[in-house]
Amino acid sequence: MLDLTYHMPTNIIYGTGCIQKNASLFPAFGKKCLIVTGKNSAKASGALDDVLQALALGQIESIIFDEVEQNPLLSTCKRAGDLARENKVDFIIGIGGGSPLDATKAISIFAKYDLRAEEAYNQDYSKDHVPFFLVGTTAGTGSEVTPYAVITVDRDGRKRSLKGLFAEACFCDYRYTLSLNYAFSVSTALDALSHCIEGYFCNRADTMSDLFAVQGIQLILDVFTNLSPDQTFTEKQRQKLYAASIYGGLVITKTGTSFCHSMGYFLTEDHHVPHGIACAVYLPDYLRRGFDFETKKADLLTYEIDYTLSEICNIIENMTDYTPVALSEAEREELCERWTADNKFGSAPGDFTPADAMELVDRIFPKT
Ligand code: NAP
Ligand code: FE
Repeated sequence: MLDLTYHMPTNIIYGTGCIQKNASLFPAFGKKCLIVTGKNSAKASGALDDVLQALALGQIESIIFDEVEQNPLLSTCKRAGDLARENKVDFIIGIGGGSPLDATKAISIFAKYDLRAEEAYNQDYSKDHVPFFLVGTTAGTGSEVTPYAVITVDRDGRKRSLKGLFAEACFCDYRYTLSLNYAFSVSTALDALSHCIEGYFCNRADTMSDLFAVQGIQLILDVFTNLSPDQTFTEKQRQKLYAASIYGGLVITKTGTSFCHSMGYFLTEDHHVPHGIACAVYLPDYLRRGFDFETKKADLLTYEIDYTLSEICNIIENMTDYTPVALSEAEREELCERWTADNKFGSAPGDFTPADAMELVDRIFPKT
């Protein structure tokens, strides 16, 4: 039976040359814009040049803020937002991977309101922020299409998500991902795969998110099973990975993420493991639970994509270049407390509890 509710207010503009072809979209949003990016990605990918050209056509003035770090800090977002507000910008364009794109979403709030940093979490700003556009340069987070901004709060170094922040439009041109190195490309692809698999087997999935998830999983597995030994991707493979990342974003816009993400955050926050790898560490276990508890969906998935459970797990394990960190007893206890307090595991297949999470931790990570 059709099980379907879907809300996607972002105009997804997809394809090569999509910024140049749609430059006429910007003038309706005003005369002054803040461009938000990291140190390198906007220039290396060629996206910054394309955006500047499009803005010049519309005689739109721009200021560039290029200080967004990986796993962006709330204080950075506030600083950029203050700059935007003081300069009375009409809209914002974020260029980069998930870090600058998520930062742009948070900045859109500070650009409108003079808040103390953590006040951004106090109320719903989903309809109350400076309008923003997003240009992706990694094939992973799908942040272009999601309403989430994953931001690191300075006070405790923990990641907390702002929600409800959809872009006016996102520009999706896989060519901007060509300059991303092999290790980041694999890690970001694992993030997209996690979005698709977590979404597929979680209890918030519906007909539409399942369609996107199966497409995304198929595309990524096809790339991972046909890798060239010299650690490069063909253009066709880059296209597939980028499409899969957008599918993954559409999936989690509906379903949210599940325990691979919740349990992966501490690996990034405390041990600097790249986000995609940090989630993929748990992905084979999540998948096995999906196959145990959602047997009908599991059968459908294997039929659609033509890989067995053990084949998918092997592919993920082969691509997850990771040596487990050793956890101290104090760190283990802190995780237990945090996950028991948050309990964000409810959407996972089966009745996954914080105790199950700790059992998984004890199986994966050696003790110091
Ligand atoms: P990222 O942190 O945005 O970028 C990783 C690195 O790759 C940075 O050094 C970046 O350079 C570089 N880079 C990006 N694109 C490049 C390109 N085309 N050419 C050369 N270098 C490039 O990585 P990400 O994995 O895309 O984003 C991770 C963040 O997204 C995490 O904070 C994660 O929690 C979040 N996330 C968000 C969502 C969501 O729905 N919003 C979902 C999953 C994850 P720069 O220093 O220049 O940026
Ligand atoms: Fe993610």
